[in-house]
Amino acid sequence: MLPRIPEITRTNDLIDLAFRRAAKESSLLTIRGVPRLIRTRKKEEKKVKVVARVIKKHLNKVLKAPRIEELPSFYQELVDIAIGIEKLKKSFGAVKWAVKKIESLEKHYKYKIRTSQTEVDASKYRREFYGRTASILRDISEEIDFLRDASRKLRSFPVVKDIFTIVIAGMPNVGKSTFLKAITTSKPKIESYPFTTKRILLGYFKRRYREYQVVDTPGLLDRPLEKRNPIEKQAILALKHLANVIIFIFDISETCGFTREEQLKVFKEISSLFKVKVIPVVNKADILDKEKIKEFEEKIGEKIFVCSALKKEGVENIIEEVIRSASPV
Ligand code: GDP
Repeated sequence: MLPRIPEITRTNDLIDLAFRRAAKESSLLTIRGVPRLIRTRKKEEKKVKVVARVIKKHLNKVLKAPRIEELPSFYQELVDIAIGIEKLKKSFGAVKWAVKKIESLEKHYKYKIRTSQTEVDASKYRREFYGRTASILRDISEEIDFLRDASRKLRSFPVVKDIFTIVIAGMPNVGKSTFLKAITTSKPKIESYPFTTKRILLGYFKRRYREYQVVDTPGLLDRPLEKRNPIEKQAILALKHLANVIIFIFDISETCGFTREEQLKVFKEISSLFKVKVIPVVNKADILDKEKIKEFEEKIGEKIFVCSALKKEGVENIIEEVIRSASPV
């Protein structure tokens, strides 16, 4: 579920729209056989009603955005990084305040117009209502602009499903994207983060009627943390909320261009950063000899899985391991 804020109109455009609608609707009002004062009162009251209705309807639509606390934690983290949760809450608060204020002005001026003694007074009260309503909207124009910007940013968020998620990590060229393609059934969906140029690749597979999401984040979980800028670190933190299990891919043939030691260092970092199970996988088995694999398993000191993502060999065992960690025993 992607968080959304409905489309928001600029303050001045909203004021124009409301006033134009009011002029139109009141001109269509046909009142016959009553004194001119009553007719004027009715027309002016109608204008007040229409302006209040148009503005309240629009602002209430904005307030229909999902509550931040109800979003999956991955999105909460992204919202905080890209937009700022506190500022967002404050802006919604300002919109709420404006709705209340306009409601009470509407009541007040409708009464004044209804009890006005002259046509001049009736029109004067209506104009006063217009002036005060416009000024309330101008008071919150900064918040409206902020929400407009937030709404645009939210639309660029990666769309991920709130289901069991496997995040693939490992240094560049170890075979992460080949592995993702080997275990998922459709072409990976490419999404991007709103605040970095980093992309996020999503694939899906099903086992026993349950759907699993597989995520590859090129450029994020493939280097030592010290080499990252603050934004990248935050993007990694957001991934913490998404990952239910991590598959860390090694290329011990070192054809990827990184030594085993360099890869182990990143593996250890990721294992301690993420509080979920990290499954070590040695890829490119088709070009490795068994001795080398055994030696590496002893070095790492835990059970490793071996596969060739390219030849789609050994991947099923890894899927089984993932499914085991997904179903509580
Ligand atoms: P990533 O950067 O980690 O996503 O790595 P890629 O999936 O792009 O793979 C990097 C290179 O390794 C490509 O040339 C792949 O064809 C190759 N590769 C990936 N998996 C295997 C494998 O199981 N065996 C062999 N021999 N090559 C592989």
